[in-house]
Amino acid sequence: MVVVGAGPAGSTAAYHLARRGHSVLLTEEHRRVGFPVQCAGLVSARVLRLAGTDRMVRHVIRGANIFSPSLRRLSFSAPEPRAYVLSRSGLDQALAERAARAGAQVEPGWKFTGLKGRTSSGRPRLTFRTVDGEDREVEARLVVGADGVTSAVARAFRLRRPLEILPAFEAEVPWDGAEPDQVEVYLGRALAPGLFGWSVPDGGGLSRIGVAVRADTGRTARDYYRALTGQMARRAGRPVPPPVEVVVAGIPIGEVPRTEGDHVLLVGDAAGQVKPLSGGGIYTGMRAAEIAAEVAHEALARGEALGPGLQEYGVRWRQELGEEFRRAWFLRRLFLRLSDEDFERLLDLLDEEGLLSSIIALGDIDFPTVTARQLLRQSPALVRYFPKALGAWFRSGSPLAPVLD
Ligand SMILES: Cc1cc2nc3c(=O)[nH]c(=O)nc-3n(C[C@H](O)[C@H](O)[C@H](O)COP(=O)(O)OP(=O)(O)OC[C@H]3O[C@@H](n4cnc5c(N)ncnc54)[C@H](O)[C@@H]3O)c2cc1C
Repeated sequence: MVVVGAGPAGSTAAYHLARRGHSVLLTEEHRRVGFPVQCAGLVSARVLRLAGTDRMVRHVIRGANIFSPSLRRLSFSAPEPRAYVLSRSGLDQALAERAARAGAQVEPGWKFTGLKGRTSSGRPRLTFRTVDGEDREVEARLVVGADGVTSAVARAFRLRRPLEILPAFEAEVPWDGAEPDQVEVYLGRALAPGLFGWSVPDGGGLSRIGVAVRADTGRTARDYYRALTGQMARRAGRPVPPPVEVVVAGIPIGEVPRTEGDHVLLVGDAAGQVKPLSGGGIYTGMRAAEIAAEVAHEALARGEALGPGLQEYGVRWRQELGEEFRRAWFLRRLFLRLSDEDFERLLDLLDEEGLLSSIIALGDIDFPTVTARQLLRQSPALVRYFPKALGAWFRSGSPLAPVLD
């Protein structure tokens, strides 16, 4: 079996396949697993459980400061840890090492370049180019495409890509926010159209400051980063220092319709398994990778590696994550309609209506729509921001998605 991409999803799939006794080749295009880093590394405790270690935790987060476009601040903080800031390269390395310990052959510096036909039994022949310029060819019973947002595996197997890709720019900056155990979130059409800006302290004097935006604004994510750090500097009364490291990457939003085909499964960003409201994909990608390994193992035991035999993968991961993705996707569409005045009013409402205690009690970065539903139940004023169909759907438990104009 071949797993392409040693990010969190790929190494998780490789580990769970290898520990079930399969022969697994895990390839990574870069010479070093975990580099370059393309992430803020903010995760829930679920990720630590899935990884089986907390050795890559750098810092604990207990709350958030949300800033409206006019920099009005809404602050909430819980007594217990709500999220963890990881060394992202540390996470990727720990997961690849775990896969290797379980028996996977890990090959950094092997870039998947395409398909070179099939064997007489229909197995795909994969081609790789190593960092030393050598070409390799491998035949696989099953390929797991875990090669991220630009997935070459998805292209080679003609599986459709995520609906939307948000350009993101993030920098590691010697900067302390006002509260050391809180993340900052910046909302507003001018500052971050399409998602938001963030600042995540790493507990060691650096903050990961970034922004992800719609692709069609005519400006780059770096332009928005400059605007964001300008705002932060004005608020703090001191300049934001130049970055020590920068990340330019894309965040896929919107699941792909089919995550499996003949001899292939897609996991993680390659499958669009990213939370539509935050762009976070570490937990969802790792969990889907576990499910992929489980289904692949069962299908191969039955001697099936064709699409129909692997369909169960799409069914199972959607059973667990699909409802949250669908609700979040609709909430995101609503979010895109909000004006800067709406953001101001929404933050006022959350403050005025005593809803902060619900956010503190329920806030879950992996399942934010659970909190959103509770807030809607509690606050009739909030419902006014929702088209009727969406408000009713959110307050009901119905899995049927509403029709929105
Ligand atoms: C700026 C930014 C900040 C983010 N912050 C967070 C956050 O705080 N929390 C969170 O949960 N998520 C965050 N995300 C999203 C998160 O980084 C991804 O969802 C997650 O990394 C997806 O994991 P993956 O294993 O599917 O893909 P990736 O992590 O992208 O791994 C794919 C791997 O495949 C390799 N690869 C690619 N092409 C090939 C090829 N042809 N051959 C071989 N190897 C290949 C790549 O080098 C890479 O190592 C952020 C994303 C961005 C862009």
